[in-house]
Amino acid sequence: MDILEAIEAYNQRNGVTLEFKALLSDMDGVLYNSMPFHAKAWAETMQAEGVECEAREFYAHEGRTGKGTINIYFNKHKGREATEEEVQRIYSEKARRFVECGEAHPMDSAQEAMQMIKASGKTIVLVTGSGQKSLLQKLDLHYPGIFTPQTMVTAYDVIKGKPNPEPYLMGLTKAGVERDKAIVLENAPLGVEAGRAAGIFTIAVNTGPLSEEELYEAGADIVYPDVKTFANEIKKIL
Ligand code: MG
Repeated sequence: MDILEAIEAYNQRNGVTLEFKALLSDMDGVLYNSMPFHAKAWAETMQAEGVECEAREFYAHEGRTGKGTINIYFNKHKGREATEEEVQRIYSEKARRFVECGEAHPMDSAQEAMQMIKASGKTIVLVTGSGQKSLLQKLDLHYPGIFTPQTMVTAYDVIKGKPNPEPYLMGLTKAGVERDKAIVLENAPLGVEAGRAAGIFTIAVNTGPLSEEELYEAGADIVYPDVKTFANEIKKIL
């Protein structure tokens, strides 16, 4: 399927005419090749809490807030929600272990893609469930002039987080556009679900270990194997 066909299907489904004015982009697994570090840091942190788990299962939780992820494991393994104090302590520990993994690098072709989209006059808004300050603070270094505090939705802004549409609805507000004037760029099923639930045309880049089908099942309008392919295809509508 071509991006133009996917947009046509979106238009028919929603009774709208998509006009691309703003890109709402996720961070981990899209702008940064950081998911292997997040998965490792989560698994080590939860194992230290006495929870049996493996790194790869955390890809299924990608996009959730830290609190959301912690409570899924607490409910399953301890039969209760984590206290606010536990959430703070465990999330800090996870963030510390993430930093120990080393430096997360920008995803191949992502810097060029963002510069190209910005140069064509589109607004770009970051929409991430992450509260990883070590990475958020690097954005302006790796993506200069692209993201400002006014054009970012992070873990510090949301209550529900992905897969709820809340963060992407906030992204639309920050971009100052309606749902049919924006495109979501995601890599995780829960993020795709959030974009779709917000009524926005949602592109997925499959940069992790999941199958393409999982991203289509989550509601992606089109799935590309990597950011480089996305960058080439998006040129058709710039
Ligand atoms: Mg992601």
